[in-house]
Amino acid sequence: MAVIEKFSTKLDGKIYSWVNPSAEDIGASSIEFLNALPGPTHIHVSGEDSSRCRATVTLLHGNEPSGLHAIYEVLKQRVPAAVDMHYFILNVDAARQAPGFIYRMLPQHKDLNRCFKPPYGNTEPELLAKNLIRLLQQLQPECVIDIHNTSGSSPSFGVTTFMDERHDALVSLFTHRMIVTDLQLGSLMEISETMMPTVTIECGGAQDRESHLMATEGLSKYISLQDILSERHEDMSLEFFHNPMRLELKEDRDIAYGDHCLLSEGVTLLPGVENYNFGFVDSSIRLGFVAGILKDSLSLKDTAGAEMISDYFELRRGELYPRKKIKLFMVTSNPEIARKDCLFYLVEPDD
Ligand SMILES: [Zn+2]
Repeated sequence: MAVIEKFSTKLDGKIYSWVNPSAEDIGASSIEFLNALPGPTHIHVSGEDSSRCRATVTLLHGNEPSGLHAIYEVLKQRVPAAVDMHYFILNVDAARQAPGFIYRMLPQHKDLNRCFKPPYGNTEPELLAKNLIRLLQQLQPECVIDIHNTSGSSPSFGVTTFMDERHDALVSLFTHRMIVTDLQLGSLMEISETMMPTVTIECGGAQDRESHLMATEGLSKYISLQDILSERHEDMSLEFFHNPMRLELKEDRDIAYGDHCLLSEGVTLLPGVENYNFGFVDSSIRLGFVAGILKDSLSLKDTAGAEMISDYFELRRGELYPRKKIKLFMVTSNPEIARKDCLFYLVEPDD
């Protein structure tokens, strides 16, 4: 019999608890499942070996549904859990805003996946982040995966702030691309340093059908295999991308997307830039337009915080070009995400 607490609209960072929901309890679709949640929810599913447990976090961003879909599928299909499973579905309120899965976070709220670092303030996302950390400290899962979607169409990849075979093994349940970063932004995976192995899985675009499938397949392995930390689970080897840099918009500038310069102050990116996700661009590829001086509109910091924009990009008669061969990923065509987060990440080729 499922135990579920009553819904409350109070914003206090509360995470509701739901123990062993039945296939009937969760509804007939992932949307019905979302609507059955009382708010941010912790679902506890008993596994064969209850002396161990693993955690899965998703919907830190309300517009990234693949993780929710995967949890719905494994609950519906009753995929047997090798160990106890703890699912945390957090930004339910943002995900539910009509027409559904549109808002990364509620308007005026902080990005929840930038809140996992002290000091924790008293806003709803910071309280939620703090409560999740407290629950993970209590439960001591052997590992945590945090399932996201990329904002644009993209191949899947994993992200880690910590390099060792446990993190490689976790990512290889889902994908063969692995980004290793030192960037400290306050994202959940940064708890790897002090708590337990934690990786971010980026399933590809929210609109891409394969994203839901890969999330479900990976999660099924994550919950059913006895050992998920000591060996890689794909035949193909992992492709690593080290220390990506973020191309960010300067605070007082704006961004637009179009095939000619749309702003008299700021950046216009060509809409097709999204197609370069995990592809190379070089100095022959026009990316867009910048009105005025490059460094007044865009910033590219290395991991030491040094400004690198002029080393990697240049303007030719107002048109934006890379100065050298680089690989792009997390390219967004959503101006809101470009403004609040970044335009894209880039790495230099290894060769
Ligand atoms: Zn996300």
